Amino acid sequence: MKFKLHTNIPIRHLRPEDLELLLNLKMQPEIYFAADLVDSLSADSYKELVSRFNEKGFEPSFHGPFFDLSLGAYDPKVRALALERMLWTINAAKDFKASQIVLHPGYGPWVLSRKFDEWYELAIPVIKTIVKAASDNGIKIAFENIYDNNPNDLKKIVSEFSPEHVGVCFDTGHFNLFSDVPMKTWLETLSDRIIELHVHDNDGQDDHHIAIGDGCVKYTPLINWLHKREQPLVVTIEMVLKTHVIKSVPIVREWIGTEGKEK
Ligand SMILES: [Zn+2]
Repeated sequence: MKFKLHTNIPIRHLRPEDLELLLNLKMQPEIYFAADLVDSLSADSYKELVSRFNEKGFEPSFHGPFFDLSLGAYDPKVRALALERMLWTINAAKDFKASQIVLHPGYGPWVLSRKFDEWYELAIPVIKTIVKAASDNGIKIAFENIYDNNPNDLKKIVSEFSPEHVGVCFDTGHFNLFSDVPMKTWLETLSDRIIELHVHDNDGQDDHHIAIGDGCVKYTPLINWLHKREQPLVVTIEMVLKTHVIKSVPIVREWIGTEGKEK
């Protein structure tokens, strides 16, 4: 299948009917475990979760933990903790039969007032360890734009690695909040290194993660890019409310030209 449609599922808020809804919508889950849940979940509950997803034949993607974490933090203990959380996620992704994990790299002027190059020097050994662990398990890593004003920093990270193992997740909502350059520039600069999209909307002021069309994101460059796109792509509808996901599914399906069947 050329394009696969996913939606984010924070495990903490998982309801039994959610998996049925995904099956009905012919969508895959993007699984997210919050760090406190990882620490409190019993081995039996974890195993039970894995079998619930596996029994339904899902081919999920994963979203790595990100709160308080930075792969290039000054404090070596923060870097070590970030690595520990990411390695846990890689193992979980393997158990849930996921082939791709989205990670927030953790740099950003709004958070740390840090220069990217300083962050990068500390982060790259950690990133290499993560990429090795993931690729040993047949899993790709997609680094996501968060506070990025332009695509250059993400391009630098991914150019360090083979496209087989590492790509970019282009997030439309974060683009709308933080980018200084047009969407077309992002899509052209990162081009075939983009292996996933996070689609959601906002009002340009805050990261609301609302339905497509309910905010001010202009999607035309993305739609044009999708029409020309040949390589496989995970397209994840990343919203807070289920009603917003349901509203957005037909819109995104029209962009990617699939009814949820093989294309
Ligand atoms: Zn995102």
